[in-house]
Amino acid sequence: MEVITKINEMRAKVLSVKDRKKSIGFVPTMGAIHDGHISLMRSARSENDELIVSIFLNPTQFDKGEDFDNYPRQLNQDIELIRKENVDVIFSPGTEEMYPDGYCTNVRQDRITDALCGRVRPGHFNGVTTIVTKLFNIIKPDRAYFGQKDYQQSAVIERLVRDLNMDIDIQVCPTVREEDGLALSSRNKRLNLEERQNALSIYGSLLKARSMFASNIRDAKEIIEEMASVIKKTNHTKIDYISIVNARTLEDLSLINEKALAAVAVWIGNTRLIDNTILE
Ligand code: AMP
Repeated sequence: MEVITKINEMRAKVLSVKDRKKSIGFVPTMGAIHDGHISLMRSARSENDELIVSIFLNPTQFDKGEDFDNYPRQLNQDIELIRKENVDVIFSPGTEEMYPDGYCTNVRQDRITDALCGRVRPGHFNGVTTIVTKLFNIIKPDRAYFGQKDYQQSAVIERLVRDLNMDIDIQVCPTVREEDGLALSSRNKRLNLEERQNALSIYGSLLKARSMFASNIRDAKEIIEEMASVIKKTNHTKIDYISIVNARTLEDLSLINEKALAAVAVWIGNTRLIDNTILE
């Protein structure tokens, strides 16, 4: 497995793979590798000749403040975890390499980014669409893999690829959870024992939504209120948003009469976690 940090070396590698007419699978990450990332790598491994994983903690998609500074960084450990997955290349550029002096171009998407996390984290998805476009331009993958855990991000990327005519197949893989239901996330590493326990209320709220939906309740407000009450019963939690939206457009639904997404963002102490479930 090669670890490449320079864009020109990455480009040369990609060129040699393309010359051999091999397909490229790509898994972008911000590091702090866990089994959610690994599941994307396994899907990509089985469907492509060459597998490239990027590790880049992208500053432009973070809100101002401590989230970026406190984001877990463990490059050496990540390299060893990724090595076990038969990955061909890790692309791990520094910030200066991706955003050199004078950098001033951004990719902006409207509408889908107005909902859910986009509403409460202005600028976040512009950071995502910009870095993903840059990585796609460097790596030129045939297929790229994203997790359903970040549902809106996957929807934004699918739209980006369609709107900008990128010839890349986007695969969205299921959310990997701990045995008790908590969705794996790099940010879980920041939770202390009590917060880890409190974070379970997020999954609890999604189970509540699913069970209400299964009992034929279709009123979004009624479901959202019950989801909120599950979370509010738990100490030290602060709801950022709970929304039920059209799963395709991400527009708010009042009546669930088409495929819907129940999405949640909750502060557990100083850590903001998100999760979601499909209702259909
Ligand atoms: P991140 O490093 O958090 O930017 O995540 C990199 C990729 O892994 C994104 O496509 C995420 O959606 C995906 N991912 C993160 N957590 C999970 C999870 N628990 N299950 C599946 N995919 C995940």
